[in-house]
Amino acid sequence: MARKSRRRPYAEPHPELDVESVLRGRTRTETRADGSQWAVRPVQGSDKTYRCPGCVQEIAPGVAHVVAWGDDHLFGAEAALSERRHWHTACWQARDRRRPG
Ligand SMILES: [Zn+2]
Repeated sequence: MARKSRRRPYAEPHPELDVESVLRGRTRTETRADGSQWAVRPVQGSDKTYRCPGCVQEIAPGVAHVVAWGDDHLFGAEAALSERRHWHTACWQARDRRRPG
């Protein structure tokens, strides 16, 4: 039996967020108008397409945007991260402006 000996490039960039590096990274915390706390991390663009919850449009690969997740999640940071959402930067910033009244 021939065994494949192709070496895997372990240093290849990982598109997914990794919990530890996120928590240590340049994540800022924002308090929204409703009092909820959110961790927000700007990303330079990924190689996947995401759907922005703000405008329900797609975020194309390579477009800089933000990733946000609840910072006061009941089950802790890892659970919160697993529910993170990708937003257009403008949609995230416009979020507070859309409250009724
Ligand atoms: Zn959007």
